[in-house]
Amino acid sequence: MSNTNTTKSTNNNPSPSNSITRRTALTTMTATLATTPLLINTAKSFAQSTIPATPLSPSKPVDTLQGAGFYRFNLGTMQCAIISDGQNMMPPSTFAQNIPKTQIDQVLHENFLNNNEVPTQINTMLCCDEGINILIDTGLGLDSGPGNGLTVPHLERMGLKPEDIGIVVITHMHGDHIGGLFDHNGQKTFSNAELVISQQAFDYWSKAKPGTGDARMQGLITGAQEVLEKYKDNLRTVVGDDEVVQGMKVVPLFGHTPGHIGLQIARGNDQLFYIADTVHMVYMQMPHPDWQVAFDMNKEQAVMTRKRVFALAAEERLLVAGSHIPFPALGHVRKQAPAYMWQPIIWIWNPTVE
Ligand SMILES: [Zn+2]
Repeated sequence: MSNTNTTKSTNNNPSPSNSITRRTALTTMTATLATTPLLINTAKSFAQSTIPATPLSPSKPVDTLQGAGFYRFNLGTMQCAIISDGQNMMPPSTFAQNIPKTQIDQVLHENFLNNNEVPTQINTMLCCDEGINILIDTGLGLDSGPGNGLTVPHLERMGLKPEDIGIVVITHMHGDHIGGLFDHNGQKTFSNAELVISQQAFDYWSKAKPGTGDARMQGLITGAQEVLEKYKDNLRTVVGDDEVVQGMKVVPLFGHTPGHIGLQIARGNDQLFYIADTVHMVYMQMPHPDWQVAFDMNKEQAVMTRKRVFALAAEERLLVAGSHIPFPALGHVRKQAPAYMWQPIIWIWNPTVE
């Protein structure tokens, strides 16, 4: 019956009132698929007749990663890369602690996301400038399970060993940012690097009493104090407006943690605002910056910071990158009343340095 209707409307009356409906379009597509030889059949017969088939069990281990795990781009003369450290699935309520489930589900539905769990990615960033390699955050670390802790393996795929890193900037001392500072043996991963953290973070974590708070807080204190001890001989603290290197300025973004910082990086006419953990799930928090995140230690202050950062980025049309923005984690914050939306960049395949 559907085929008859399609033929009738197409052949006998081409007027707009008989334009192809979604149903007839699908019917036509199905019929076409049923009668058109699929490319895979052609390829198979070619392979069988002329060349040996590729074995299904390759002799070499197959790299199962999507792409190379890093995305190169340039800021003026500075060569940069966003590095994917990995991904975890999390319940959506993690990013909307103060919101009823029906309202969360509506936003997830609008953004084509699953309402049981959403992918949360972890990124780090590399900047190569004037002969020094600067790593911003270090990810979860080498022993953090499959699909995670990939910063060092990806650096090696880019031709860099951990000892080639001259500066490591830590935006804050959560495990997904400091975990990579230790190797398999619990020693310094980046043996030649100066560690840069905010003065406020240094004060907070160095004074925190081990064993206080819940199990998660106790783990955070232990991890932070291990970092401060291990890297104490080559450690620099910074405050707002200080420069890590010339043109890489510290921006206080307090709320997520005490002393949480971002970076304003400028080279020539290019500029980037690295917002670290100001946002964890762009498709929920950009339309709703006031939704509270479980990981934000001071939730009210984090909401204020988020609103301030989104407003600035949108008004100034800044290129933005962040630790938990979907890879390659580069894009813009676009005003969409009453709040904002995330506008990813278009992937550039062949960046060149001028
Ligand atoms: Zn984080």
